Amino acid sequence: MAAWKNWSGSVSAAPSAVARPRTVAELQALIAGADRVRVTGAGHSFMPLCATDGLLLHLADMEGEITVCDDGLSAWVPAGWPIHRLTPELWKRGLSLANQGDIDKQAMAGALSTGTHGTGVTLGSISTQALAFRLILADGTRVECDAAIESDLFQAARVGLGMLGVMEQVKLALVPAYRLRETLRPAPLSEILADWDTLTARHRHVEFFVFPYADRALMKILDPVDAGDDPPAADLESGVMQVVSDTAATFPFLAPTLQRLLTRAMSPATRAAPAYRIFPSERDTLFEEMEYEIPTAAGPDALRAAIAEVRRRRLPVIFPFEFRTVAGDDIWLSPMHAGPCISISFHQYAKMDWKTPFAAVEPVFAAHGGRPHWAKRHTRTSADVLRLYPQAETWGAVRRRVDPAGKFLNPHLRELFAFSL
Ligand SMILES: Cc1cc2nc3c(=O)[nH]c(=O)nc-3n(C[C@H](O)[C@H](O)[C@H](O)COP(=O)(O)OP(=O)(O)OC[C@H]3O[C@@H](n4cnc5c(N)ncnc54)[C@H](O)[C@@H]3O)c2cc1C
Repeated sequence: MAAWKNWSGSVSAAPSAVARPRTVAELQALIAGADRVRVTGAGHSFMPLCATDGLLLHLADMEGEITVCDDGLSAWVPAGWPIHRLTPELWKRGLSLANQGDIDKQAMAGALSTGTHGTGVTLGSISTQALAFRLILADGTRVECDAAIESDLFQAARVGLGMLGVMEQVKLALVPAYRLRETLRPAPLSEILADWDTLTARHRHVEFFVFPYADRALMKILDPVDAGDDPPAADLESGVMQVVSDTAATFPFLAPTLQRLLTRAMSPATRAAPAYRIFPSERDTLFEEMEYEIPTAAGPDALRAAIAEVRRRRLPVIFPFEFRTVAGDDIWLSPMHAGPCISISFHQYAKMDWKTPFAAVEPVFAAHGGRPHWAKRHTRTSADVLRLYPQAETWGAVRRRVDPAGKFLNPHLRELFAFSL
């Protein structure tokens, strides 16, 4: 038995075997020969998606290469490679991902299997960037699927949590390489929410972080910029200190931690570089996270109500809410399938109680029409999935067809997707 833990340390497992195949033939033989299989990327999911007592696969060592397709704007890439390995290689070929999330540690397959996203009203999740997959199915066979060939399998696997098969290669839609300028700007929360539509229309990527006991938030704005365009200086200090002191006024014992976290998170204030270097931030303080994707119109109210709930209960939460936008899509199990969303993340320091605050805020998100990020803490049930996802049964039929014995399930997935058994 080997030990396995997720990034935050909240999920552990004892797989009967752990394998790091290097070739497709090895991967096929491993899958065909096992009773129960889960595949993990960087283990950054907060829910027990990868936990197994069977075979746990890591695909980061798979041999392979990036092959740019004839159209020059798409490429086949090894699905198990981390995003931070792929993006500089794409840059060398004059290409970028259209959008990325807060970090780039995830395996490409891990990120897209869960609908991982960044921010931008015109930009969908990473799953929307997938054009085709090469999957190893439960019996070890290798299948290529896209919108035309084996289209049901392709649609199901776009957000499939590794339940359809193991993704060995993915074909990604890409854009010409671009640079981004990042500007961090503190502002009153009420002002940001009042200007939100203008802000999101004016800037390609806008998001903000707000501490539950502060009335000011920190905006992060990213815009495409030409090489050599020097970023203007910004005076962040007063806004930062305001946020720190508002929060520390409520929890004085947290002041030093807050100052350390903020200083680390907010330096430098403005910078410009290739997009793949601007998107990811350092996340070296462990936290636990809940995130709901909420229909755009209800987003601001959902945030205000969640903050009010934390304050009403005097919950000791020292991490901020994160507020982002994601475009709608047509993916069966995507939380964004019904239209554009506001994504609200609620974080708690990993060593503090996260269950109580998350239990307090989850009903608020749900009451505002939210659907949970599959990889982040939630307590939705199989009945909720059926209610929230009109295509859930269609997805379930594909899952049942390609993996009738449930080789790729674990107890969490068996329960959450019980309708597909
Ligand atoms: C610090 C931090 C920052 C984050 N930032 C963001 C963010 O900005 N936006 C956002 O939306 N999410 C974010 N997340 C969530 C994260 O993107 C997801 O949990 C993502 O799935 C993690 O990728 P991973 O490679 O670690 O996958 P894992 O957690 O290892 O696996 C996730 C799922 O993908 C499946 N999978 C992995 N590899 C394969 C494969 N080869 N074939 C088939 N299925 C596979 C697994 O079986 C599992 O179901 C963040 C998480 C952390 C810890």
